[in-house]
Amino acid sequence: MTQRYKRQIELAGFGIDAQSRLARASAMVVGVGAIGSVAAMRLAAAGVGRLVLVDHDQVELSNLHRQTYFTMDDLGVNKAKALARRIHDLNPSVKIDPYAVCADAALATELATDCDVIIDGVDDFAFKLQLGDIASAADVPYVFGGASGYLAVVSTVFPRQTPCLRCHFKREMPPPPHGVLGPLPGVTGSLQACEAIKVVTGVGRPLVKTLQLFNILSGTVECKPFSPWDECPRCNHDVVRGDNNLNQP
Ligand SMILES: [Zn+2]
Repeated sequence: MTQRYKRQIELAGFGIDAQSRLARASAMVVGVGAIGSVAAMRLAAAGVGRLVLVDHDQVELSNLHRQTYFTMDDLGVNKAKALARRIHDLNPSVKIDPYAVCADAALATELATDCDVIIDGVDDFAFKLQLGDIASAADVPYVFGGASGYLAVVSTVFPRQTPCLRCHFKREMPPPPHGVLGPLPGVTGSLQACEAIKVVTGVGRPLVKTLQLFNILSGTVECKPFSPWDECPRCNHDVVRGDNNLNQP
């Protein structure tokens, strides 16, 4: 393990202890297209112990301008299974459980219960909010992410401790995306992998109570803080206690 992760273990504040915590961690990635495939691959490369990959979609030609872990040979193949093979080629020490199914709430909650973090790789915004509810039901931290146009967006939620994404968006659903710059989802997925590593190792401070927006066109990063929303249907049922201990896994 030491040789493969040498450049990570030698990081100030990381070391063999954080690497070992990462090796014991399980991450569930729901949707392994443009964003989720990058997050999963980055976590595997960094040394996460187990990945649960959930996606019912098949690889299509129009995916390949941004979903660069898939190849022409993968066309028509389920994404979770294709990505599992690619991850095994990169790092065979990672345990991978691919699910070629649509993640309904019951299944996703069941799969999440033995995971340490959930990563959002889905396209549909309503499903993103539902995934936050699933994370809350399973009491597992959730890393939200999106890539639309020229904008990458990331945030992390600890159920019952920090406000959820409904608290930020309230009743304003973002418009459906129309196009995305090819490399942009890779930015989102990499940032999500970093958030997940922070969550499971306790290194650093996860991006809670804040929506981070990275505008590729202007090269600017904006952090929008948000608080619990009084009318939030999720947080109204939970106790939002603050985030004083969120550097602990
Ligand atoms: Zn909320």
